[in-house]
Amino acid sequence: MLIPGTIYFKSYLYDRWYAEFSRDLSYRNRVPRRIETTNSNKAHFTTLQGEIVKCRRCPRLVRYREDVAVTKRRAYLDWDYWGKPVPSFGDPAARLLILGLAPGAHGANRTGRMFTGDRSGDFLYGSLHTAGFASQPVSRSTDDGLNLSDALITAAIHCAPPDNKPLPEELRNCRPYLERELDLLRNVRVVVALGKIAFDTYLSVLKNRGAIERIADFRFGHDVLYDLDPALLASYHPSQQNTSTGKLTQTMLDAIFLRAAEIIRSAPGPAAPRRSSKPNSR
Ligand code: SF4
Repeated sequence: MLIPGTIYFKSYLYDRWYAEFSRDLSYRNRVPRRIETTNSNKAHFTTLQGEIVKCRRCPRLVRYREDVAVTKRRAYLDWDYWGKPVPSFGDPAARLLILGLAPGAHGANRTGRMFTGDRSGDFLYGSLHTAGFASQPVSRSTDDGLNLSDALITAAIHCAPPDNKPLPEELRNCRPYLERELDLLRNVRVVVALGKIAFDTYLSVLKNRGAIERIADFRFGHDVLYDLDPALLASYHPSQQNTSTGKLTQTMLDAIFLRAAEIIRSAPGPAAPRRSSKPNSR
């Protein structure tokens, strides 16, 4: 026998259950979506790197990188130089973003991987290895087995400039790539800017986005940390000029990446850095 009160009570229970179920479902739907976004970000990141490698936006740099690839340095005559824009290297899910200046003419422009094949790379990867972000302290070629974990290296410009000096318009031409990378790198907790040009380039992106008011409020100096989101940590660039004169020592650069690891460790989320045996994007 149906009792009207029972029907009402059942209906009430059903509504309550459905409300709880819907709330739970919408929560559970959010979690996979986050993972899907990450995967799709990785795909977009790979596509972006493909675009960068084909770029010919700066005539002076295109000429230079290709000339160097033909004339070569005597020590590397048996190398097939890369001679193209150098894509970013590392983990697209990284919490550490390293922003360099530009590929070296006979380093990354030869090998095709950021900071690979020259003294700057030895310095940088030595410190990244000490802090747990790199699988090995040396970086010789794209098939040397090096992996980055929880770290990604990009640059203010992706083509080697003459005398390591890009022109302002070349920096402007390349900045959209950095902006697009920043949009795709959702996990970054700390940005390490190597040198003043990289530091200013990053600040110019922040200013364009309204995240900061004035670039002049930020002074470049070694081991200077700015409490932004993500944190910004400035470092001298590991150029041969800085490392051979002792302006930047290995211990000083180690301290930068140990500090970056500490910032990541103290931020919410999984412990840092994560070691991985998976190969990185180039
Ligand atoms: S520096 Fe950047 S914008 Fe200019 S040609 Fe190279 S990749 Fe393109």
